[in-house]
Amino acid sequence: MSWIDELKRVIDDADRISTGSSVCDLHAQDFSYHPPHRPDVVVFPINKDEVSSIMRFALDRGISVVAYGQGTGVEGHIIPLQGGITMDFAQMSRIVAIRPNDFVVQVEPGITRTALNRVLGPYGLFFPVDPGADASLGGMAATNAAGTEALRYGAMRQQVLGLEVVLADGRVIRVGGATMKSSAGYQLAGLFVGSEGTLGIFTELTLKVYAIPQYTAAARATFADVESAGQAATSIIAQGATVTRLELMDEETIRAVNQVEGTNFPVRVTLFFEFASNHRSAVVDDLTLSAEGVTEYGGKDWTVEWDSDARRQLWHARHRAALAILTASGGKRPFTTDTAVPLSELAGALRHARETLNAQEIPGAVLGHVGDGNYHVVIGLDPERPEHMQKAHAVNDAIVRYAWAHGGTCTGEHGIGMGKTRYLGEERGAAGAVLWQIKNALDPDHILNPGKTLPIQEE
Ligand SMILES: Cc1cc2nc3c(=O)[nH]c(=O)nc-3n(C[C@H](O)[C@H](O)[C@H](O)COP(=O)(O)OP(=O)(O)OC[C@H]3O[C@@H](n4cnc5c(N)ncnc54)[C@H](O)[C@@H]3O)c2cc1C
Repeated sequence: MSWIDELKRVIDDADRISTGSSVCDLHAQDFSYHPPHRPDVVVFPINKDEVSSIMRFALDRGISVVAYGQGTGVEGHIIPLQGGITMDFAQMSRIVAIRPNDFVVQVEPGITRTALNRVLGPYGLFFPVDPGADASLGGMAATNAAGTEALRYGAMRQQVLGLEVVLADGRVIRVGGATMKSSAGYQLAGLFVGSEGTLGIFTELTLKVYAIPQYTAAARATFADVESAGQAATSIIAQGATVTRLELMDEETIRAVNQVEGTNFPVRVTLFFEFASNHRSAVVDDLTLSAEGVTEYGGKDWTVEWDSDARRQLWHARHRAALAILTASGGKRPFTTDTAVPLSELAGALRHARETLNAQEIPGAVLGHVGDGNYHVVIGLDPERPEHMQKAHAVNDAIVRYAWAHGGTCTGEHGIGMGKTRYLGEERGAAGAVLWQIKNALDPDHILNPGKTLPIQEE
């Protein structure tokens, strides 16, 4: 009997285990340029006991296991490099509890961020972390995802109060809790967040949620180049404006968004802002302060939107930016840089990113969550053309090295996956060995998402 036939006894529901080629193909690739690789089998667990049984089964036989949320990662995170079992959490997407008075929800990992927000809305609550894709909360916690509202609310690590985790040997543990504060020893929840399915599998998350502010306004302004937009962004934050979102899209991004989303934004480098408060006067004060900052750096076309539909359209366009760039490039594969630098270095870093693209003579767009110093270059890549790949890697390499030289990191929000392992060792230095010690303590047989997240040279 093959090990897959044996696994069918553990799952015991033919609808929730598949070796079909279309299902395996769907789980072979994420939203990246990395080459696909199929799992041997895909399972759809429905509770922690089943996840635990699968882990014990896999450990006994030395089979690798990859957790799968929505497959929207951009660094090959879910590609099962050694085949094995992919565990898709689509059928573990329930809300376990909503505790409005505590500003806490407990959810299963497969629920997506928009599904959660649909349920929270009637309570006057929302969950702020918003990657451009409709990702799962499990995947978002595993990559420490961020998005446009991280500027005000923080990334996933700031939202995850507690986790239920199934370890590589099948043990089920709970880490963290449901309180806003805890000093109870090592903060294991913070360690599991960002571990990209390499240390344990999440089966439940306890998350912070927030009251929806009563007044919200969006605004935009255009600039001559990315550097002056970066200077305006950092100066507005330094002036003390309470900005919820502060996003940059360059001309290439705006052109693609107009073409694909049917918007008609002026084709210039643009900053998009959002301000929110329970007091209208506070929003008006922030708008005034920001308009002054825009003018100081030569910004034009200052436009304010209070209307909720107009704001929704604006942020929808921003969330779709990466997809629009790819569609406009003729459906190529996405190659995305993800550096973050201290705010004082942002304007120079944006200029350097644009100059690097121009020097390599490769089409690409510069955009980012510039309010927190995180910026991307998105290139529509033809993986069949080696010179295209070479140039994209040269761009990424130059941008990462620039960020390091200016106190930054190779990834602000996308994570390491298989695409940035080459940089992690260099960025972490001697701490790279500690990462391996943690991995070896929790997953000594390296069955959890092998080939991801850890520095390559140390194994
Ligand atoms: C158009 C677009 C825009 C994006 N914009 C942003 C952005 O603004 N900010 C941002 O941060 N990211 C962004 N991303 C990247 C992506 O959406 C995030 O990385 C997201 O967190 C991935 O979630 P997912 O559910 O798709 O996870 P997957 O891609 O399925 O998995 C990601 C990682 O999480 C692990 N994982 C999944 N579920 C579990 C679990 N239950 N337990 C343990 N590990 C698990 C996987 O093994 C894998 O390592 C964007 C992606 C796209 C396609």
